[in-house]
Parts: sequence; C-alpha cells; structure tokens
Amino acid sequence: MPQLVRHPPLDWHIHAVPSDAPLATRILVETAMAMIDVIRDDELSRLTICADSDCQGIVLDLSRNRSRRYCSTTCSNRNAQAAHRARRADQTVTA
Ligand SMILES: [Zn+2]
Ligand SMILES: [Zn+2]
Repeated sequence: MPQLVRHPPLDWHIHAVPSDAPLATRILVETAMAMIDVIRDDELSRLTICADSDCQGIVLDLSRNRSRRYCSTTCSNRNAQAAHRARRADQTVTA
C-alpha cells in the first residue's frame, strides 16, 4: 500500500513498500514506481532496445540530445570497430 511520507532529507514522497521487505521486492517496487514517473513525464522514448543486432539490452538514454544507441560501452565499442573495419574494407576495394 503506497504511503505518503516525509523524512530527512526528503520532502513528501511515496513509500510503496515497507522498509523491512526483502531487497529484491524493494528494488522491484521502486523500479515500477520509477517507470510510472517515466510514463507520466512522457519520456518513454528514452527507453529503447540496444542498436546492436545481436543484443536485446535495454538502453536508458539520459543524454541531453538523446543520442545514446547502445546499452553498454561493450556494444558501443564493438559496433564502432565493425564500422571502422567496414570503412577500411571499402578503401581497400576502391584503392
Ligand atoms: Zn523515503
Ligand atoms: Zn547492447
């Protein structure tokens, strides 16, 4: 049952799960509550699937210009390297 509470250092906010609940339950409920805020703020476009063709990771784009495409630096680097190899292969063909 969500409860409106006020305690330092925060002003009024909602507690949706008892503080003695198991950690996994608290993470689950807090995540669900955060998702509600994302939806209410019309910011769902910040949540996408990783642009890597083999990855199903979730991308949470908090960048100012919404430029994030990969879930992690691992995916980002792998695709940057693949693009680099592709460019170099092009140059070899045309040279
Ligand atoms: Zn609190
Ligand atoms: Zn990924």
